Amino acid sequence: MVQKQIALLPGDGIGPEVLDAGVAVLRALSEIDFEYLEMPCGAGEYLKNGNPLPEETIEICRQADAILLGAMGMPNVRWADGREMAPQIDIREIFGLYAGVRPTRLYNASHSPLKAPKIDYVLIRESTEGLFSTRLRGRESTEFVKDEMLVTRAGSERLFRFSFELAMKQRKKLTLIDKANVLPSMAFFREVFDEIAKEYPQVETERVYVDAMALYLVQRPHTFDVMVTENMFGDILSDLAAATVGGMGMAPSADIGDAQAVFQPAHGSAPDIAGQGKANPVATILSVAMMLEWFGEPECVEAAGKVRKAVETVLADAANATGDLGGKLSTSEMTGLIVGAL
Ligand code: ATP
Repeated sequence: MVQKQIALLPGDGIGPEVLDAGVAVLRALSEIDFEYLEMPCGAGEYLKNGNPLPEETIEICRQADAILLGAMGMPNVRWADGREMAPQIDIREIFGLYAGVRPTRLYNASHSPLKAPKIDYVLIRESTEGLFSTRLRGRESTEFVKDEMLVTRAGSERLFRFSFELAMKQRKKLTLIDKANVLPSMAFFREVFDEIAKEYPQVETERVYVDAMALYLVQRPHTFDVMVTENMFGDILSDLAAATVGGMGMAPSADIGDAQAVFQPAHGSAPDIAGQGKANPVATILSVAMMLEWFGEPECVEAAGKVRKAVETVLADAANATGDLGGKLSTSEMTGLIVGAL
């Protein structure tokens, strides 16, 4: 039997609630033997012990087959310069998880504010450089603060190869999102993209400016397959994308590197609904499916398909909805329906 060790990082706010849902789904998959290593991490951990990402947690994450994360951050727990604790971003940088994979799929037309017939694409967000690259530098002056957009050749090449490989498995179309008309860093990003595109002549490519992309994701989301972009642009567009399919509770994600990967819902800790049983667990459950697929063994890939199918079956009925989708189901009721459909 396939055995997998999963590092569990519940974190803050609704993190533990949605992670429970993900684990409930894994426990129902009797064909794989999972071992869970639950580790402290997040703003709550900082309040207890002074460090939002303890060394021991990093070590367990390094050893585990995959990391499953809930959500991190509390609005009132901040560093001296006003930033929130973000150990989930530190983890991406520590393990070189450069590809932030964010699938966006509409499961039921009633979830979308758009009149889109079909929404099914994957946005890949570069996750180790870009406009986040100097986030830890601190302030150098009381008169100005400068954040830099770092684009390296090596970082972009690995990102684009990853994106083309994914596009090859999908509908063979890859869209680059940049701001090459204004920023030199983005013109370079596009240059490297054009070079790597020559290695994949089977994949149709297009290049769209980020501002236009915000428009197109609302006007014609059905025309996209795989998209790739810089860190900050991806951060913003992936929330916009989530809004078109029901909100953050419907947005799974994976942060993938060459050796490790973290799977987590794309949402934050949602303090406004924490502890009330209102969180939509679907984003986490779909992130669990991404983890199973990433493992790659046939049993795991098959289990990933089973989980996606169960979500599809449950959500096909518009009445099966948590509050964010206009319904009344609690986190555990929605989880129960999905586990029941496996
Ligand atoms: P971060 O900056 O950490 O990504 P954020 O400030 O963007 O977080 P979220 O915590 O993602 O904010 O919450 C944004 C909105 O989406 C809130 O109104 C929250 O209640 C809602 N939301 C987030 N996740 C869920 C969920 N799983 N189910 C229902 N609503 C959610």
